[in-house]
Amino acid sequence: MAPTSPKAFLIDLDGTLYFKGEPYPGAIETVNYLRQKKYQLRFLTNTTAKTPKMLHAQMQTLGFDIYEDEIFNATYACLQYLRSQPKNRCHFMVDDAVKAFFKEIPVDDEAPDFVVVGDYGEGFDFHALNHAFRLLMNGAELIALQKNLYWFSSKGMFLDCGAFVTLLEAATGKTAKVMGKPSETLFKIALESLQCSPSEAVVIGDDITSDIVGAQGTGMRSILVKTGKFKPNQLENPVAKPTWVINSVAELPNMF
Ligand SMILES: [Mg+2]
Repeated sequence: MAPTSPKAFLIDLDGTLYFKGEPYPGAIETVNYLRQKKYQLRFLTNTTAKTPKMLHAQMQTLGFDIYEDEIFNATYACLQYLRSQPKNRCHFMVDDAVKAFFKEIPVDDEAPDFVVVGDYGEGFDFHALNHAFRLLMNGAELIALQKNLYWFSSKGMFLDCGAFVTLLEAATGKTAKVMGKPSETLFKIALESLQCSPSEAVVIGDDITSDIVGAQGTGMRSILVKTGKFKPNQLENPVAKPTWVINSVAELPNMF
């Protein structure tokens, strides 16, 4: 059976469309091409230090023709999840702009239902981590906006929130509910917004462990780009098998 021709692309941002604050060559043109061809687009990112509104402003500044309601990040997925919970008092370990995004969710720093961990930068000090540890040991559940271990900036590599989530999991014996890729939460919310079945959507990303694992888990085809976090040895015994592998997103218009 011939594969269904795609109706939509779910495109990763960091490492796929841009890297270290610069768009990849051909990336802006590829987005324009897909739009001209009337494909539906969603932009999925594990970046949680920013709200969709802030990400939109950033992508516009880089020169991408992207709409705010096309951007889905783990922060947005988490808000949707918390809205669906009967008890949702939260202790947040996220920076102030992101905390404001959750303003409708009740805050409880002493006996919460959930400890929500996102990008917290220098907020992840001993006192903050130990307080979260105690809340979890007292019964709170752990939510991770995403579980990436590190990220790249123009200033070098940085520990990402997944490293601290892993620390809290190890200390408490609890398993975090992960909102970002590769968990299905973010992909499913994006597919629902497109009214698309998984077979009609294609995921594009640079990270086998989040983009490609997530695509496979949700039943979508995927394209791995050899930019960003890609390392050639990831294709030996890969944790998930991309449908296609291309050098960069600039090659996409030759395929569809
Ligand atoms: Mg990426």
